[in-house]
Amino acid sequence: MTTAFFTHPACLEHDTGQGHPERPQRLEAVLLALDEPEFAKLERCEAPLAEIAHITRVHDKHYASDLLARVPQRGWVALDGDTLMSAGSGEAALRAAGAMIAAVDLVVKNGAANAFCGVRPPGHHAESDMAMGFCLFNNVAIGAAHACATYGLKRVAIVDFDVHHGNGTQDIFWHDPTVMYCSTHQMPLFPGTGASGERGEHDTIVNAPLASEDGSAKFRSAFENLILPQLQKFAPELIIISAGFDAHYRDPLASLNLKADDFGWVTRKVMDVAQTTAGGRVVSVLEGGYDLQGLKESVAAHVTALMGA
Ligand SMILES: [Zn+2]
Repeated sequence: MTTAFFTHPACLEHDTGQGHPERPQRLEAVLLALDEPEFAKLERCEAPLAEIAHITRVHDKHYASDLLARVPQRGWVALDGDTLMSAGSGEAALRAAGAMIAAVDLVVKNGAANAFCGVRPPGHHAESDMAMGFCLFNNVAIGAAHACATYGLKRVAIVDFDVHHGNGTQDIFWHDPTVMYCSTHQMPLFPGTGASGERGEHDTIVNAPLASEDGSAKFRSAFENLILPQLQKFAPELIIISAGFDAHYRDPLASLNLKADDFGWVTRKVMDVAQTTAGGRVVSVLEGGYDLQGLKESVAAHVTALMGA
């Protein structure tokens, strides 16, 4: 059983402009980290382009085509104060979503142990009809919907340890009993959602907000005491990880103060649940993480854990 790694050079061509934290150098840092000899056994795969039909499973009917029509030939188009598109953004966003589709196919149908998608732009803030917070298409939601629609899965869980709450993912699956959404995140912080009382129509949303400076111990106990038991009870047939590494102590956008080791720990814990209910099936995709050194160390810890399957 192998761990697959999906990426595509087009994801480096999404240019967000001078000084933007969600920059191509982030993906370069991920690629550098996974170039080390201990990752030689990763099965390296090219992310295909998602089809519009994959995206409309979770986004409004005209959202993807309208968004792609707004991609500029030069310069930038601002979708909100901090979500920008350049000439390369359309293909990057389609490759990021396409990585999820192919990774789900590989893990569910072809029996890879698990997969990590090193792609950008990230996705978890994108709502069904709105780009937001550096995100264009909601990659994890597209992957979860693909697993249900194509393979008939009845229970898919998304675990989101990005330091920001995945408002888009929560919004998309609020009424859907087949997809559980679990999140740890710093609060108060952008986007402002994710209170523990937000549980969805079918009690399949599990929010564990943490405070600034909470650090490793409180992060781990949120998983041990709340998220992992709920996840186990839901018994997912596939677990998708919104793998943001901006809870790292070096990150400039937040102050949750985790260490790289915490990302390895949480990955192994999620894999343990997947082992008991999902035949070990885990698909992970990059979300945030804005300090290049912190991102490099954290991705290495995360993928090392995945490879230990
Ligand atoms: Zn984030």
